[in-house]
Amino acid sequence: MNRDLLKKLPKVDYIKNIDLLIASKKGLSEYTFLQCIKESIEKFRKNILNEKISDFNESQIIEDIKIRLEENKTKKICKVINGTGTIIHTNLGRSIYSKEIGNIIYDVLTSYNNLEYDIAKGDRGSRYSNLEKLIIKVTGAEGALVVNNNAAAVLLCLNEFANKKEVIVSRGELVEIGGSFRIPKIMEFSGAKLVEVGSTNKTYIGDYLEKINENTRVLMKVHTSNYKIQGFTYEATNGEIAILAKEKDLISMEDLGSGNFINFSKYGVTKEPTVYQSIESGMDLITFSGDKLFGGCQAGIILGKKEYIDRLKKNQYLRTIRVDKLTIGILESVFEIYLNEKEAIKKIPTLRMITEKKEEVLSRAKVMSKLLSSYNIEHKIIETKGNIGGGSMPQEEIDSFGIEFYGAKANFLEKAFRENRLSIIGIIRNNKFILDLKTIQEEDIEYICKNIFEIYKREGLI
Ligand SMILES: *Cc1c(COP(=O)(O)O)cnc(C)c1O
Repeated sequence: MNRDLLKKLPKVDYIKNIDLLIASKKGLSEYTFLQCIKESIEKFRKNILNEKISDFNESQIIEDIKIRLEENKTKKICKVINGTGTIIHTNLGRSIYSKEIGNIIYDVLTSYNNLEYDIAKGDRGSRYSNLEKLIIKVTGAEGALVVNNNAAAVLLCLNEFANKKEVIVSRGELVEIGGSFRIPKIMEFSGAKLVEVGSTNKTYIGDYLEKINENTRVLMKVHTSNYKIQGFTYEATNGEIAILAKEKDLISMEDLGSGNFINFSKYGVTKEPTVYQSIESGMDLITFSGDKLFGGCQAGIILGKKEYIDRLKKNQYLRTIRVDKLTIGILESVFEIYLNEKEAIKKIPTLRMITEKKEEVLSRAKVMSKLLSSYNIEHKIIETKGNIGGGSMPQEEIDSFGIEFYGAKANFLEKAFRENRLSIIGIIRNNKFILDLKTIQEEDIEYICKNIFEIYKREGLI
């Protein structure tokens, strides 16, 4: 064993003050930072004791520590680059916000706020009241309530109005979303009994009528967000269901999935039913997600007749699925933008990406290509197809452009980009590694290219 080598091992107090490491510490706690240093020194000590190494230098230890620090950072929630072309990517956080909204939230988070305080009265206030007014203004609904997510919204409505009673749903609409949301399961948890009607491809209003009995409470419609039944199909319309519910003194309810307020056909994208249409059709209750097409944060938004919303507000489950100041702050900002559709298309990144022309994507691709060329990175601009994702408009492809990378096998590049300090997630198509520019933000391009340069250098590809 080499005693001199052991003596050469640096002290934690010395290492922790090295500038290079201090720079890599950002985003980690002091504890984790010191832990990484100790682990590295310990690893070198063991290797000396086992005579696995006969010498080392300080920069080797620093490199080892830096890798540990980066590993700790990517375990935490952190920024990644979405180069997949899927706009509402559920694994990558669904919708993103504009910097403007980010700044408002930053302020609310780092100060006290009026979450449950009425500034005008100088007294206790309701956390939901302003947001509710705003939602009513944008949607034209009589009442509104916001909960943790859409699954919770559906659960709450079913529990309040159909506990131990029956809910009628078409067989063509018993959806499963992302593996963990299944209408039959949610129904079971809520205490409601599911009554299926019609067939997978055809359900008429008469099918609902036939199943109504003294235990029926709700006629429910579920938007088949992530699949389409095509061909020989029919489904009862919202209007028919709303009228039948009224006639029979029942509640009509729709799980819209995505909360869409935009008539996308104007922008060359297939039409998706809008929240406005559901309200106009006379549905008593409508629920949708806050972070799909709506472009906000995780939340379940419930719209409906005031008397029903008032009942939901008294349901004991509400406390367990209520939202916090972050959610309220973001939704207020986003709903406010929706007061003007033109502004919404511009300022809500999800909507901007869906509606932007392919020429705009091409111009981003060109900016990126120019930078990559300046770094001598072999690549080519290619046409691609992006998609909306998030279980919305499953068959909709959006014309886009991407960058195809060369210099190594696609699998190798995919892994190297993904495991980089700034994780860059791309796609492999036809054995080529591609970053789709549809979902890459203009302001990130320079930083991304710098990182790609580092990757190519590190892997010895340039
Ligand atoms: C996405 C979706 C849900 C679940 O919404 P979360 O906000 O993820 O809970 C429920 N129903 C439908 C139809 C959906 O598309």
